[in-house]
Amino acid sequence: MIPSDPKQVTQICFDRIRIPDQRRLEVARANGAYSFLPTVLNEFNSEQIIEEVKKSGLRGRGGAGFPTGLKWSFVPRNTGKPTYLLCNADEGEPGTFKDRDIMRYDPHLLIEGMIMAGYALGVRDAYIYIRGEFVAEARVLNEAIAEAYAANLLGENILGSGYSMHLTVHRGAGAYICGEETALIESLEGKPGRPRFKPPFPAVEGFYRCPTVVNNVETLSTIPAILKHGGDWHAAIGAPNSAGCKIFSVSGHVNRPGNYEVPMGTPLKTLIEDYCGGLKRGTVPKAIIPGGSSAPWLTSEHYELPLTFDDLVKAGSMLGSGAIIVMDETADVIKIARRLSHFYAHESCGQCTPCREGTGWLERLMIRLEAGKARASDIEVLRDAAEHMAGRTICALADGAAAPVLSMLKHFPEEVRARVVEKAA
Ligand code: SF4
Repeated sequence: MIPSDPKQVTQICFDRIRIPDQRRLEVARANGAYSFLPTVLNEFNSEQIIEEVKKSGLRGRGGAGFPTGLKWSFVPRNTGKPTYLLCNADEGEPGTFKDRDIMRYDPHLLIEGMIMAGYALGVRDAYIYIRGEFVAEARVLNEAIAEAYAANLLGENILGSGYSMHLTVHRGAGAYICGEETALIESLEGKPGRPRFKPPFPAVEGFYRCPTVVNNVETLSTIPAILKHGGDWHAAIGAPNSAGCKIFSVSGHVNRPGNYEVPMGTPLKTLIEDYCGGLKRGTVPKAIIPGGSSAPWLTSEHYELPLTFDDLVKAGSMLGSGAIIVMDETADVIKIARRLSHFYAHESCGQCTPCREGTGWLERLMIRLEAGKARASDIEVLRDAAEHMAGRTICALADGAAAPVLSMLKHFPEEVRARVVEKAA
């Protein structure tokens, strides 16, 4: 369920999401869906669209935060190969549950964004790669796509513009690593979902070794508003270097967990207290994971931090996918880090030794620590193993696996020491 917006601030992806039956084309169109599409297809050219998206300051909403217009501008033209557009709807990062609400409640927003992006990039075939567990969302998307085909919003010669694009939903098999764009591409090609070495980057050599743009659901769903209102309009919302709005998925020890779309730069405290109804217990959080489970943890000293890409990096973490997990004073941080270690050990694809072996080491040591059976020397082994995984692998999963353990050791050394001393002495 999408919570109500207590402050009525500007919203982009959630602008019409609370309207009942929005997933039906007739209702979506009555509320503005596809209204600007004929103008884009008939009056804009590719360069103009890419320029507007660059001007908007939009940065990818899936985790990496790469500037969207710049990514699009890397796609080579006239290569003699097709260009593909892939929507990353895998949304496997623990704590993240925003894209599925867009797909479930306003699928036409995503489809419209994909048509506009596809037109700008010269794409004829586009895909939505959705995680296997999102059965209902895949069904809603397929129904919306069928309606869009019937209305000539997809297919050949869209609305008589001369532009043709086909859109297919592909369900993954539930592997976290398929949210990494090159693993997603491998999986879509029918192979095991394992990340590729980069470079070459997908923009140059992606799906079937052809130029490919991979964008997240929220990113693509922002495109219709940017083209309708202009890049400058979007750039004026939010904060410097963090333009626009962002959907934050807030979970954990708050009174009203849920998805909240707010302008970037909104303070963390405002989001938690004014939107989420504050903490269940206590007045300030004990720990906060600000950008999905692979983001380093923050503590109460960061409670007033503005939610921007730069402010979170300065605080030693990252905005990531915007999944905020709040822990109050009752949280057992050792148990939480152990649980996340299990997740990453289970999801490692096994290509890189530091990740394949290291995630297992972390999990085994964390199990020992949680059970009160760890020796003091195990803590240094734990730290050493985590520090030697990060930055030495093909993809960032190893960094994500190290983050909860290193965060626990950095912010809660007393709790770690107490667990070792009390029970294993
Ligand atoms: Fe696979 Fe881990 Fe290497 Fe990523 S870091 S490619 S998940 S083994």
